[in-house]
Amino acid sequence: MSAAEILPQPHTDLESIPAAVARLRAAFDAGRTRPLAWRKQQLEQLIQMHDDHKQEFIDALHADFGKPAFEAFASDVGQGKTEAKTALKNLKKWTRPERIGGIPLLGKGRILREPLGVALIISPWNYPMGLLLSPLAGAIAAGNAVVLKPSEVTPHTSAALAKRIPQYMDAEAITLVEGGVEETTSLLEQRFDHIFYTGNGRVAQVVLEAAAKHLTPVTLELGGKSPCIVDEDADIDIAARRIAWGKFVNAGQTCIAPDYILVHESKEDALVEALERSVTEFYGQDPKTTPDYARIVNHRHHERLSTLMKDGVPAFGGQLDAEQKYVAPTVLRNVSRDSAIMQEEIFGPILPVLSVKSIDEAVDFVNGRDKPLALYLFTKSSAVEDDVLARTSSGGACVNGTLLHIMDARMPFGGVGPSGMGAYHGRHTFETFSHRKSVLTRGTRFDPKIMYPPYSERLAKLMQRFM
Ligand code: NAD
Repeated sequence: MSAAEILPQPHTDLESIPAAVARLRAAFDAGRTRPLAWRKQQLEQLIQMHDDHKQEFIDALHADFGKPAFEAFASDVGQGKTEAKTALKNLKKWTRPERIGGIPLLGKGRILREPLGVALIISPWNYPMGLLLSPLAGAIAAGNAVVLKPSEVTPHTSAALAKRIPQYMDAEAITLVEGGVEETTSLLEQRFDHIFYTGNGRVAQVVLEAAAKHLTPVTLELGGKSPCIVDEDADIDIAARRIAWGKFVNAGQTCIAPDYILVHESKEDALVEALERSVTEFYGQDPKTTPDYARIVNHRHHERLSTLMKDGVPAFGGQLDAEQKYVAPTVLRNVSRDSAIMQEEIFGPILPVLSVKSIDEAVDFVNGRDKPLALYLFTKSSAVEDDVLARTSSGGACVNGTLLHIMDARMPFGGVGPSGMGAYHGRHTFETFSHRKSVLTRGTRFDPKIMYPPYSERLAKLMQRFM
């Protein structure tokens, strides 16, 4: 697939959507997805699909927005496979009934994980493979039927997935619907047992409203402005390198990218200089020429970023090329706190640097805005670390680093408040797509009459002693 090839807008025939969901529900109701053997085989197929067509997916991502091959594999194509491997390895452990043991006088308790039913997974364009297929792995492990809805904004990736998913996955229980607003609207009219949506907050409200009609539970993986606080005592070279990497990977089009920096005023100049050195080390003198730097996904977003660029003065970068959808890695100074770039999620390679007089000022600044998806703090002081973590709320946080807190699947990944609800990765995805059913099994040999009406004075006294 060549980058020059323009695909028509992807779509699935609207008329076919209700029947496709009904087919999945029939398969779920018939118990097709429940056996561990089915789940195991589908996870193996998902891994096989990744292995057989890795290059095709990497090429599609490159055609969509010049995603560098390394980034395509490490942070996108590899995600779904890693999650499928984790689920496969832990399938027996995760699905085993959780024994609570004897409950005095009542019986034995246990918690069963049961699949929710038919799940809908809607994903965005910035990591279009990983954000679709890693939730799929957990949904399969939990025994659900699944409708996948990739983003229409990355049509090459959508087409590659639409081609390969039916070849590898059980079409009776896992289907993929291509398209945009119309197709997603039609999907949202159907009844699902769980909706897992990743994308922006505005569409999340549409999803939540549609889910309310059927009382469908939802997971919302959203975004926001993730702050980066750099304390007076931080190692400036390390901070700059790690911030520059986290910001400019995928050309800033990452939900947890550092959105802006709040640096202690005494370190502002040093940090900006170190950021510039890091960008030159990573991408050379002209980042436009390196294959390791992505493009902006479409002209609408390029235009949006070109406008935001005017909200400050580039300390370095600032170059734009609309035809190539290129925005240089840019650090902006002299940014007003009320400007548009400080209100909306930037979602591109522009990094405003604001100075603060103290950690308290930085904390107040963060707390004056929506709860972010991630918070980054650079400091050598564990007292400052504890203090900032205790006084701020964010989906996740990383101290002296960026992005990498989402790598270990033992830690749940998700937002809080406007940055999302619910969480996933590893076992947490399995739990998201499972219902925890508490079961008490009672014996029949012993059934003291004292428990039943008419209630005795003795029972009342006994209860009061224990409760
Ligand atoms: P997008 O435009 O691809 O939209 C996401 C999905 O919503 C697509 O599948 C699209 O078809 C569907 N959609 C769009 N408009 C709709 C409508 N009116 N009704 C129903 N469905 C509709 O992607 P986006 O929303 O621009 O994604 C970027 C946002 O996602 C950013 O805010 C980013 O921070 C966030 N994000 C969050 C995470 C996370 O894990 N928390 C990951 C990636 C991106």
